Amino acid sequence: MSDTGLTNPIPAPIYKSLQRGAHAERRGTPTGVIRPNRRSKVTAVNTEGLEGSTNRLLATLPVVDIERLGTALTTVSLETGLVLNEPGDEPERIYFPHTGMISLLAVMADGKAVETATVGREGVVGAMAGLGVHVTLTRAVVQVPMVASRIAAAPFRRAVQASDALRDMIVSYNGVLLGQVQITAACNALHPLQKRLARWILQTRDRIDTDLVPLTQELLSEMLGVRRSSVSEIAKKLQIAGLIRYSRGSIEIVKRAALEAAACECYSLVSGKSRRPRL
Ligand SMILES: [Zn+2]
Repeated sequence: MSDTGLTNPIPAPIYKSLQRGAHAERRGTPTGVIRPNRRSKVTAVNTEGLEGSTNRLLATLPVVDIERLGTALTTVSLETGLVLNEPGDEPERIYFPHTGMISLLAVMADGKAVETATVGREGVVGAMAGLGVHVTLTRAVVQVPMVASRIAAAPFRRAVQASDALRDMIVSYNGVLLGQVQITAACNALHPLQKRLARWILQTRDRIDTDLVPLTQELLSEMLGVRRSSVSEIAKKLQIAGLIRYSRGSIEIVKRAALEAAACECYSLVSGKSRRPRL
């Protein structure tokens, strides 16, 4: 999604401070992605003076509700590959991304997994825990390094119990996420790989605001639920057509409009560019 509509951007000096924390994490991280790893690092970053948020949900909350979350809401830098929740977990923490991206994966008994939704600064991971005991159905894994506001489930639940706005936020975003999951299910079943790959590249690009997207073939094959060789073949086609430039560990978007034309309709739906209801 684009970042238009932000009403309360993070102050520039604070943002730079957060970015430095994220960059420090990246320096120690191989460009190759992605093996889910609970040992990946979480680093606290400076939030002193944080007066706003690039996370849309936090940015639109009344000040009184931000105060309710209070000092329990801390900001952390999260490494690629970090697993935030596995299926069956009761989330211990809730994450509001400011930058980067989290994938939600449906995991089968044989270990195979496929992405069912992504969460960036427009969303939150684990928020249903605020409504009571909640068990996750998906694996949540950091796919693009990120800075996020994090809060433990217990204080979040206390804040939610005292706030209609927080309850409404959780219910409303859960509906948005359900819509995304439904579209992704249809996309995985009905749309050809080339169109799905184009959608995924664009969707990820919109979350990180740069045309140089850190996506490996390994990651793409895992997210799209196909063989790596299939991803390689399709990426080559897109490169030969001049739409992208592929190198080890990243994809550069060369012709944005042409890539949008090559993507399936699901990109327009999830990015709000379609006339159909936005997801
Ligand atoms: Zn599709």
